[in-house]
Amino acid sequence: MTRPNISFEFFPPKSLAASFRLWDTVQALAPFAPEFVSVTYGAGGTTRKLTHDAVTTIGKATGLNVAAHLTCVDSSREETLAIAANYAKAGVRDLVALRGDTPGGGAFIPRADGFTDSIELIEGLANAGDFNIRVGAYPETHPESTDMAQNIAWLKRKFEAGATSAITQFFFDPDTFFRFRDACQAAGIDGDRILPGILPIENWAGARKFAQSCGTQIPAEIRQAFENAARDNCHELLALAQCSELCSDLLDGGVQDLHFYTLNTPNLTRDTCRALGIEPEVKLQNVA
Ligand code: FAD
Repeated sequence: MTRPNISFEFFPPKSLAASFRLWDTVQALAPFAPEFVSVTYGAGGTTRKLTHDAVTTIGKATGLNVAAHLTCVDSSREETLAIAANYAKAGVRDLVALRGDTPGGGAFIPRADGFTDSIELIEGLANAGDFNIRVGAYPETHPESTDMAQNIAWLKRKFEAGATSAITQFFFDPDTFFRFRDACQAAGIDGDRILPGILPIENWAGARKFAQSCGTQIPAEIRQAFENAARDNCHELLALAQCSELCSDLLDGGVQDLHFYTLNTPNLTRDTCRALGIEPEVKLQNVA
């Protein structure tokens, strides 16, 4: 089997301790030679500077291709395009363009002078420069989609607006991804441009909560297994088996890219990569 392309998502640190955690995660995962890594953008632009600093620092220190997330929330078009222009000036050409959510929940309300949705944002960025624009995709539909057909029609519009690839929300059943990819292909979207997003379950209670907020279904057997594992104190073993099996099934089904939501904790992502036969490329200068 050819080596799959892998990529890792990080979030920007908000404290000194969190900066060290992020750095440890980057150090642990960079040797796996990811295609790219990405850094999220806090709800409502709350991490605007932190995201920028994390993106540029990781890029400079590791030479990795770093993608900066950007949302439409609480910014004028001018401000958003200025952020993108700053990235271009710093040599960052990869963006993940999202509409974003209103901080604290509630319906997204665009600013009168802001981008009204992700399509407008993608068009704005595509016209502003030579960016590689990635976007979000929702295999179990987005909570605001009326149905799967509308969810896919919207994704198709993102590609027509200038997106080059889409990263999915996380899911736990590989068939969920395959059904979505097939439906996208039937709608004229190239399935190879849809990267499955993988959430390694480092923390079961956290993953359950996260899944509920995104509308991700947890199959009954996974729920039962994690509850038993908590009781029997063997969470780590189960989490590695579950994540590796999901990735392995995706690769068997023709997937070429795996995007890991690391939540700035590297161990399970690293162990999953190794279980899949993806070994770190250790160079002498990395260990000297
Ligand atoms: P879209 O896909 O544009 O919209 C979601 C759905 O709503 C669409 O499928 C469509 O059905 C419907 N919809 C939206 N607008 C319209 C419209 N005008 N007309 C008709 N239908 C419409 N959030 C952050 O705050 N920061 C991040 O860094 C971040 N990173 C993410 C990374 C990935 C890979 C993913 C999948 C999500 C991320 N999110 C992030 C969460 C994301 O911002 C939310 O899920 C948000 O609610 C939707 O953003 P989007 O661009 O994917 O929305």
